[in-house]
Amino acid sequence: MGSVINYIECPNCKQPNCFNDYYYNTGEEVTNCPDCGYYVSMFIKESSREKNLSDLVESDWDVVEILHPYGTGRARCKGAINWSEGTFKTKEDFLWMVENLSVEVEELIVSRFVDGKIIVTDVIRQRKLSKIIKSIKS
Ligand SMILES: [Zn+2]
Repeated sequence: MGSVINYIECPNCKQPNCFNDYYYNTGEEVTNCPDCGYYVSMFIKESSREKNLSDLVESDWDVVEILHPYGTGRARCKGAINWSEGTFKTKEDFLWMVENLSVEVEELIVSRFVDGKIIVTDVIRQRKLSKIIKSIKS
């Protein structure tokens, strides 16, 4: 299955790094912004894959739209080369992730679009610093 990858201006944060992967044989696509977490995907449901493209109706598509997310994060585990990425739809999603962070996660970089600016936070480092500050104060 072939696709065309483009970098476009993000409809949410207006940064130029928004990733669009368009599958020209099926019309499926995914758009994801590494700066704010904007995410839109349109894929044909597995149960509809046997249909002709021209016979597809709206209910044959799985559409996910996260137009104004809380942010996006990328994490890397100890010894790993690859990063895992994902959008935090809400603040609760982000807090859940931080609370349930595996000890194996060595780096967690969170990027958010707040008041017209991109704010990037190194969560693990910030957490270590706050522990150090607490230990100095006590
Ligand atoms: Zn964006």
